[in-house]
Amino acid sequence: MIKGTFPIERFKDIDTPFYYYDTKVLRETLDTIREELRRNPEYEVHYAIKANANPKVLRIISAAGFGADCVSGGEVRAAIEAGFPAHKVVYAGVGKSDREINLALDYNIHCFNVESEAELLIINELAEKKDKVARIALRINPNVGAHTHSNITTGLAENKFGINLEQIEEVIEQAIALPHIEFVGIHFHIGSQILDMIDFVALCNRVNELTELFERRKYPILSINVGGGLGVDYGHPNHKYIPAFHEYFEVFRKHLNLRPGQTLHFELGRSIVAQCGSLITRVLYIKEGTCKRFAIVDAGMTDLIRPALYQAYHRIENISSYEPELTYDVVGPVCESSDVFGKSVDLNTTHRGDFIAIRSAGAYGEIMASQYNCRELPKGYLSEEL
Ligand SMILES: *Cc1c(COP(=O)(O)O)cnc(C)c1O
Repeated sequence: MIKGTFPIERFKDIDTPFYYYDTKVLRETLDTIREELRRNPEYEVHYAIKANANPKVLRIISAAGFGADCVSGGEVRAAIEAGFPAHKVVYAGVGKSDREINLALDYNIHCFNVESEAELLIINELAEKKDKVARIALRINPNVGAHTHSNITTGLAENKFGINLEQIEEVIEQAIALPHIEFVGIHFHIGSQILDMIDFVALCNRVNELTELFERRKYPILSINVGGGLGVDYGHPNHKYIPAFHEYFEVFRKHLNLRPGQTLHFELGRSIVAQCGSLITRVLYIKEGTCKRFAIVDAGMTDLIRPALYQAYHRIENISSYEPELTYDVVGPVCESSDVFGKSVDLNTTHRGDFIAIRSAGAYGEIMASQYNCRELPKGYLSEEL
């Protein structure tokens, strides 16, 4: 998707702001992953629903044969409704409610990724009431850092996620002993927007240490789930819109010692959907400040919160104008000083009514929208329906 290839004539009939999903980019991304999986038949990818749960986007991903990774009962339901088969649904989260656990038991999902001993006991109890056996993997906090924003690091001992290394053997023995629990393996997730493959190598090394220990203890580890986290190139959504899937899977192929019969599971979210999505907004006003020029757009942090929440960078393009570039702060209408999409952004000379594309917004965009200031939620459109 490059400037000039957005269907601007079609956009004129649509209320802004809205999300635009380029299905060509999405399908090419999915095909690239499937190509990698063909080489590694014991690998399975579960798309992390939380990155983007637009039903039309989910349908395309489920039709491509992927499983789903969920972090709430609502996501389990959204995944099943979008056609993900229950036997490919996994469910993680530190705070699963009884209602959510019951829902997942009713759907017979593939696996609960359990994050504490207390949760394990409750799942056993609820499964017993339904006369079922719940398949579970234990989420281990590997104490492996990811060199990414501190708000999206999840694999350090200080984070709330997973079971600590010191406690893990005890919890595995308990899981094996519980009558309504079937222990199938171990789960990890170290963070998000990880671009340095060294972090995944560190994860592989930790997984190897643990599986060797578990082998000595004769714990049956059928599946190893290494979570998600592969990053995307927010700086170059036009030229580098396919993430480094080959390098990523190669890390696991080279560094993770899978035993015969073991399957390796991945939970990719951002890397699958980020680059296919753009937030399309119209310019409302140009305001000349004393030392700044502002382009005030009709999208705000309620539509895309990443810049305000994580100081995230998104490439911003004026897709209506080809006039010489000027420098703007691109800001939204919400009554918060953090409602800024980009400071000192070079845009083609911008006028009221121009369309602005905020790129790489397919992940953690539409799904994180809120109605703060009584704003409407943005809609999402696929390129193929416009
Ligand atoms: C968020 C999350 C993912 C997906 O992370 P990405 O960085 O979007 O790939 C995978 N697994 C779990 C458990 C998660 O919480």
